[in-house]
Amino acid sequence: MKRTLIALAATLAATAALAQAQYPDKPVTIVVPFAAGGPTDKVARDFAEVLRKGLNNQTVIIENVGGAGGTLGAGKVAKAAPDGHTLLLHHIGMATSPGLYRSLPYKTLDDFEYLGMINEVPMTLIGRSTLPANNYAELVKWLEANKGKINLANAGLGAASHLCGLLFQQSVKIDMTTVPYKGTGPAMTDLLGGQVDIMCDQTTNTTGQIEAGKVKAFAVTTTKRLTTPALAKLPTLDESGLKGFNLTIWHGLYTPKGTPKAVQDQLNAALRNALKDPEFIKRQEGLGAVVVTDARLAP
Ligand code: ASP
Repeated sequence: MKRTLIALAATLAATAALAQAQYPDKPVTIVVPFAAGGPTDKVARDFAEVLRKGLNNQTVIIENVGGAGGTLGAGKVAKAAPDGHTLLLHHIGMATSPGLYRSLPYKTLDDFEYLGMINEVPMTLIGRSTLPANNYAELVKWLEANKGKINLANAGLGAASHLCGLLFQQSVKIDMTTVPYKGTGPAMTDLLGGQVDIMCDQTTNTTGQIEAGKVKAFAVTTTKRLTTPALAKLPTLDESGLKGFNLTIWHGLYTPKGTPKAVQDQLNAALRNALKDPEFIKRQEGLGAVVVTDARLAP
């Protein structure tokens, strides 16, 4: 009996070592649960470049599985093989969706291994360039005057843009028609085209458009003004009259439940390594985001 146990322990140790030695043995896919071109996609593509350095330079592919506020993509990863070759890069929706959806295609706490946080991202309130308002006070006047006709774009139930939009509507006490997209990438395309009026979206998606003058920017959602040059002039919603308005979102990395511990450790080390990359930090800061200093709550 004792011998059998020793043999079993040796086999398990050898299997774990083998998993570590061989991982990754094919391209790693990061599922982004939103459309391409949006804020989470931008973070993921930037992050993939640095993550691969910690994964023997293996190719890291982005797969966009947008829809239903990020829950479809998360559901896909929950059912993927737990071998570390399919990862999920998701945001605050991971925590808020269980409270917003009657049923989800996954169990938030049971179906994933949590690898760590990546960044924190503030949001901005922006509008189409043809809006007659040029600052927050003028925006509120325009909203008041156009009650019942305002279209507010978002990335679906539970997405950051949806939550921010709801909080904003509640704070200014004006109901708007919410227009859901598979991500704020396509929502931004419609905002640029003037098909929708306003949107609350992450700075990783809005900074470039604000800088280029393609959208009107009214405020940031943090209680402190931001330091990123293109965003520094924007007032906070808090100082603009919505006292206490404070919203920042985070992104984290997950792998399906049951991924071998050795693979999780390797992924966590690659994640920590990526978070220290000066170029990654610089690029994220240029988009208003803050890279976390360590992989919090990591194994
Ligand atoms: N993260 C979403 C996206 O990448 C947007 C959102 O959550 O509002 O499109």
